Amino acid sequence: MLGAATARRAPATPPRGERLGFRAPGAAATTPPSYWDVLEPLLEQVRKPAQYVGGEHNQILSAWNAASTRWLLCYPDTYEVGQPNQGIQILYEILNERSETLAERAYAPWIDLEERQREQGIPTFSLEHHRPLWAFDVLAVTLPHELGHTNLLNLLDLGGVSIRADQRGVDDPIVLVGGHAAYNPEPLAPFIDAAVMGDGEEVTLEVDDALAAWKRDHLAADTAPGPDARQDLLRRLAAVEGVYVPAFYAPRYLDDGRLRQTVPIEPGVPALVPKRTVQDLEQWAYPRKQIVPMTETVHERFSVEIFRGCTRGCRFCQAGMITRPVRERRPETIQKLVEDGVRDTGFNEVGLLSLSSADHSAIGPIARDLADAYEGTTTSLSLPSTRVDAFNVTLSNELSRNGRRTGLTFAPEAGSERMRAVINKMVSEEDLLRTAETAFSEGWRHIKLYFMVGLPTETDEDVLAIADLGIKTYGIARKHGKANKVTISVGGFVPKPHTPFQWCAQDPPDEIHRKLSLIRHAIKDHGGLKLRTNDPEEGVIEGLLARGDRRVAAAVERAWQLGARFDGWHEMPTLDTWLQALEETGISLEWFSYRERDDKEALPWDHLDSGLDKTWLWEDWQDARSDKELDDCRWSACYDCGVCPGLSIEHDTGYTGGFQLPVLPQGLGGGSQQLPTAPERYASGG
Ligand code: SF4
Repeated sequence: MLGAATARRAPATPPRGERLGFRAPGAAATTPPSYWDVLEPLLEQVRKPAQYVGGEHNQILSAWNAASTRWLLCYPDTYEVGQPNQGIQILYEILNERSETLAERAYAPWIDLEERQREQGIPTFSLEHHRPLWAFDVLAVTLPHELGHTNLLNLLDLGGVSIRADQRGVDDPIVLVGGHAAYNPEPLAPFIDAAVMGDGEEVTLEVDDALAAWKRDHLAADTAPGPDARQDLLRRLAAVEGVYVPAFYAPRYLDDGRLRQTVPIEPGVPALVPKRTVQDLEQWAYPRKQIVPMTETVHERFSVEIFRGCTRGCRFCQAGMITRPVRERRPETIQKLVEDGVRDTGFNEVGLLSLSSADHSAIGPIARDLADAYEGTTTSLSLPSTRVDAFNVTLSNELSRNGRRTGLTFAPEAGSERMRAVINKMVSEEDLLRTAETAFSEGWRHIKLYFMVGLPTETDEDVLAIADLGIKTYGIARKHGKANKVTISVGGFVPKPHTPFQWCAQDPPDEIHRKLSLIRHAIKDHGGLKLRTNDPEEGVIEGLLARGDRRVAAAVERAWQLGARFDGWHEMPTLDTWLQALEETGISLEWFSYRERDDKEALPWDHLDSGLDKTWLWEDWQDARSDKELDDCRWSACYDCGVCPGLSIEHDTGYTGGFQLPVLPQGLGGGSQQLPTAPERYASGG
C-alpha cells in the first residue's frame, strides 16, 4: 500500500489560469499534452499494462479543439472492473454524438502505476489520448457502490485537482457523481461539486447544455471570469432537475448528535432534490457500439439491458427500490441490439441484463428467438438472474442450446421461510427444492445458492436454516449424479439508504463471523457441499459510507491520507487504516452503523428524493418486522409507494400484453388479482 507521504505528492500541474478546461477570453485554442510518451516506458514495470493503453475497438476519438465541453467519464476502480460498466458506455456514446462535446474515459491506476505516476509527475489521464484530468471541464464519476470513495479522492489528487470542492477554481473540472451510491453522497459532500440522482441519459445532456451556456456567457464577456464564475456554474447546475449541489445545503444537528435536518442555504434550490427517470427506454437504445476491452475484464460479453427497474419489493435491495418503476425494452429492439452488437464486436457471449431478467414480460419469446438465431454458432446467451422457479430453468435450457449445462445460480437470500417473509423474498422451500429437482434432472451439474446473514430480526435458527437448505439441495444433486455440485455462498448484509431496512442496525463483523461459523459447523459432515463466504470485515466500510452523514467525510479524507485505496479488494486490506482514521476523526461505527434508528430521526438522505415515500418505507419496515409479505405491485395492487404518480408511464407491464395495470392505491380498487403473472402470460402466448 502507498504510504501517506506518497499519497499526498501530487503531480505538478499548470497554475490556475493557464489550464485548458476554461480559456480566458481571447486565449488561443490549445490542446493539452498527451502523457503517452512518458507513460509508455513505465508500462513494462506494472502488472496488466494493457489496461492503460486505450485504442480499443469502438473507442471514440473526438477532436479536442472542435469541442466546447469536455467530459472525463470515470469509474473509480481498475479498468478490468470498470470497463464493462454500461452506464459509462451509454454516456460516452450520447455525449460524443454531440458535435460540440467530447467525452473520454479514465479508470483508477493500480498502486504500482500510481507510485510511478507520482514519481514521474504523470497525472490521472484519459484512456483515449492520455490527456490530464485537470484539462477537462467535468470529471463524471459513476459510483455503483461505496467502496470507490477513497479512489475518487486519489484520482482527483493524482489528477492535479484539489480534493476539496471549495478550493477549486474557475478552470478546475466540475466533479460530478452518479450511480447508486450517489443516492447518499453526504460522506463525499466536501469533495464533489454535484451529484446526479437517477437515470443519467437525459440529465447528463442537460448538464452539458448548462455547462456550454455558462462557458459561452463567460467567454463572451469582456473580462476574464472572476471568482464568482464557478459559483454561477454551480447555481446553473443546481437548476437542472435531478442535480444536487451539496455546497448549497447544510446539515443541522441536535445536541445528542442526531441529524435534525439538511436544509437549503442557497436561494432558489429545491428543498427536496428529485431523481430523474427515463420514461421510454426505446429512445435510449444504447450502447450501440460497445467498446471491446483491450485486456481481460470481469465480464467479457455483449450486454443488452432488457429492462430497467424492479418492483418485486425485496426489502434489502437498494437497486430494486431506487430504480422503480419497471420500464421494458421492446423485444425487437433487444433483438436488433444483440444482432448488431455481436456482429460488430465479435463477442461470443450475450448477457441479457436487468435486475431480474426472467421478469421481462416477453422473456420467453426473446430467449427463444435469440436461441434460434444463434443455434449452431459459438455465440452463447446468458441471463444473469436470481429468480428461483422452474420457469427460470426452462429459460436457461433455451439459452444454453449452444453450450454445456454447467452452472445455475439462484438467490433465496435467506434460509428460513420466516426470514424470507421479513425480506420479502417470496419463494418457498418447496419452490427451491422443486427448482433444484428440475435443474438436475434436466442435466444441469452445479447449483449456486446465494444467502445473506445479519438480516434484521434474524435468529440462530434462521441462520441454521441456510445450512439445512444447502444440505437438502445437495441431497437432490447427488440423487441425479455423484459429480453434481452445490455451493452456498453467504455474505453479511449491509443496510442501504432508500430501502425499508435503512433504519435497522447492521451486525458488527464479530457477529457475522459467529453466524458463518454456525453454518460451517452445520455442514461439516457434508463434504461435497461447498461453502463460500465473503469477508465480514468488507461490510464495515461499506456500511459506514452507505448510511453516514457529512461528518463521515473527515474519516474518508483521513483514510485516504493514510493510504486507503481499493477498499473492496482482498489484495488491499484497508480496515486497519480505516479504524485508525475513525479513531482520529471521532467517527463511531456504533453510532453510524450498529445502531437502530427510529422514525423521528432525520436521515442524511432525506432531502434527496428517490421517489419512494418515507412513510411507505417506514410502514414496509414495520411489515417486515411482523413477517408480512407484499406482492410485486407490477402484477397485483399498487401499494402507493410514491414512485409512479407524476410519471406519464405510470407503471409499465410490458409491450406484449397490450394493457397497462390500473395504478390505484391499495384499497381504492387498484387490485387486479385476475391478471396473469408474467410467466403465465408467456405460457399462454400473451
Ligand atoms: S406507485 Fe404503486 S405501482 Fe408504482 S411502483 Fe409504487 S407500488 Fe408499484
